[in-house]
Amino acid sequence: MLTLRSKTLDTVQSRKAITVTPPSVRVSEYFNTNVFHDSAMMEFLSKEAYKAVSNAIKNGEKIDRSMADQVAAGMKNWAISKGVSHYTHWFQPLTGATAEKHDSFFEPTEDGRAIEKFAGGALVQQEPDASSFPNGGIRNTFEARGYTAWDPSSPAFIMEGFNAKTLCIPTIFVSYTGEALDYKAPLLKALHAVEKAVVNVCSNFFDKNVTKAYASLGIEQEYFLIDEAMCVARPDLMLTGRTLLGLSPEKGQQLEDHYFGSIHPRVYDFMVDFETECYKLGIPLKTRHNEVAPSQYECAPNFEEVNLAIDHNQLLMDVMEKVALRHKFKVLLHEKPFAGINGSGKHNNWSLITNTGTNLLAPTHNPSENLQFLTFFVNVIKAVHDHADLMRGSIASAGNEHRLGANEAPPAIVSIFIGSQMTEVLESLLNNSTSKNVSKAGSINVKKIPEILLDNTDRNRTSPFAFTGNKFEFRAVGSSANSANAMIVLNTIMADQLNKFSADTQALIKKGKKKEDAILEVLKGYYKASKKILFEGNGYSDEWVKEAAKRGLSNIKNAPEALNAYISKSSKEVFVRNEIFNEVELNARYEIMQELYVKKIDIEAKLLAQLATSHVIPAGIAYQRNLAENVKAMKDAGLSKSDTEVQVNLIKELAGHIKIISTNVAKLLEELDKAHHLSSTHKSAMAFSGKIKPLFEPIRNSSDALEFMVDDELWKLPKYREMLFVK
Ligand code: ADP
Ligand code: MG
Repeated sequence: MLTLRSKTLDTVQSRKAITVTPPSVRVSEYFNTNVFHDSAMMEFLSKEAYKAVSNAIKNGEKIDRSMADQVAAGMKNWAISKGVSHYTHWFQPLTGATAEKHDSFFEPTEDGRAIEKFAGGALVQQEPDASSFPNGGIRNTFEARGYTAWDPSSPAFIMEGFNAKTLCIPTIFVSYTGEALDYKAPLLKALHAVEKAVVNVCSNFFDKNVTKAYASLGIEQEYFLIDEAMCVARPDLMLTGRTLLGLSPEKGQQLEDHYFGSIHPRVYDFMVDFETECYKLGIPLKTRHNEVAPSQYECAPNFEEVNLAIDHNQLLMDVMEKVALRHKFKVLLHEKPFAGINGSGKHNNWSLITNTGTNLLAPTHNPSENLQFLTFFVNVIKAVHDHADLMRGSIASAGNEHRLGANEAPPAIVSIFIGSQMTEVLESLLNNSTSKNVSKAGSINVKKIPEILLDNTDRNRTSPFAFTGNKFEFRAVGSSANSANAMIVLNTIMADQLNKFSADTQALIKKGKKKEDAILEVLKGYYKASKKILFEGNGYSDEWVKEAAKRGLSNIKNAPEALNAYISKSSKEVFVRNEIFNEVELNARYEIMQELYVKKIDIEAKLLAQLATSHVIPAGIAYQRNLAENVKAMKDAGLSKSDTEVQVNLIKELAGHIKIISTNVAKLLEELDKAHHLSSTHKSAMAFSGKIKPLFEPIRNSSDALEFMVDDELWKLPKYREMLFVK
């Protein structure tokens, strides 16, 4: 009998190479060609329309309606010159994916003909139905309508299908009453808040020339690539993005032969094709390589302003999946597609940069600039220390729950790694300034830093939040996440902290302290107060879990509980104070995230029950039947009880596992029903995490035991070694 599994293997092995012809010209010649970027704007917009858009991008100025008409016309002409027929507002609802609804430029005219039209109104605003997107109950209180509004700071781009092209306009998505229903609206607010705070601190204390600043972000993206046919044959990969069952292969990543290894030709072709599409969209991809686990890869672009970097990452994930189709691959962005080997993350490299070109998190050779560096550095530590639970909440999801706290990924404990040299600098700051002579201490510290050239090899890959020489790397973000959650939190708490710093320092100056002394005294206090969050050791170790508990640091392992940080008193205060979210929005967001968790685990639970019942148990029974027939034949041939002992024991062992699976599936279905009838979404989510997920384990363990025992011919689901190693 030809099983789906054996057919799948045949399909994969007989794949012919898909020929990709990358453009024969240099990347610089097609980079940004599908983006309405500066030079396209110059060509297609009138002088005043160009100025209006530039001002909107650079200074956040509003574009009035008459100007919007002009911009829309120019954008349409540019798009049509590239063969585009449709346009869409492109936005990021809280589903995690991007959303688009295409409208044609074409408009019939009264004389029976048609023209291509795109008015300013359609560019600036559209009205999708908010009730079809996650809204956390906002629609019950208010109207169902929502609208999308153009974000001129992220340029419009052209998305290419196989035979058609669409103009995509990045937008925010809000309810009719103004509550954010997406990632971008609060992100833009957080970025505005942090810019304002940074400019204040720089211009008041360090450099009058700083009038603008931005937060920078470089996102490293890990992913798995699996043959499409394998995914079709694995319903769990198809529907949940991860394997709910599967015996770990004998060879996983233990030989350490995949990381940075030579790239498989099929994968290499995919990467080149994918990069070409990204370059046309202005996504500045720089690196590609094999990751640690078999079939795992990574790509990383150059860093950009946070809003743009996130749009580009969202776009990149979408493009990646589409290009993979051409190559008969499926991209797995799930945080933990396979048990027993590494999961995937999305490292967020973050810094703050001024209009004078200074990276505020890079130490320099100049003593006064280094006081500025130290100020921002210590304030990051203080901000993360004070809002560690919120940082943890910002990365909480059903998928990331498999990584955080499991022993191959950043722990669920939020800590900061700064390296031995920065530890030394901060310690000497603390010790010197405990002496009476603050200004001497200041001069020692300030002068001392330039002598310390930061050693970039001082890395710690087990830290969730690590200083890497000129930026912080938030390493605990999940691979499928929209980085906005993490960036909204980080930039908000940083804005808040910098405002506190300004106030604290000004207060000391008012009391007669010299500026430098005041700054150092405040920093010293911050360092002392937040030191306990610094950890230089192995974040994956059990000792750290104990040590962190002693220090009073949280270690929240499940997502529903971690999400509680969003509605704690201190989080609500910091979000409201900085005008990022109001209470209605926070409660809605909290509800949506809990709901999403429930939905994800619910799908997994139902599918696991399905697979166990219709794939695993029948395979066990079929093998049992074969064995029983064999025993009978042996007995008929006159063999004794001791001769059939092995077979009989196997039958018993199979029966044992089948029983464990079926009783736990029954329990699972029962608990599912209960969990859906609890009085709040959070209670349901807690039940899904505490009662339902634990039942996955005995089912999986027994299923994997059956996979180990059962005749290979009878096992219908592709095995780990096949999914991971056959290309
Ligand atoms: P790694 O050793 O962790 O792979 P890389 O030096 O390759 O680190 O950089 C990883 C990412 O950090 C890249 O996307 C890079 O553009 C980004 N990055 C570098 N400098 C900054 C910065 N100042 N702000 C934000 N991201 C940065
Ligand atoms: Mg990195």
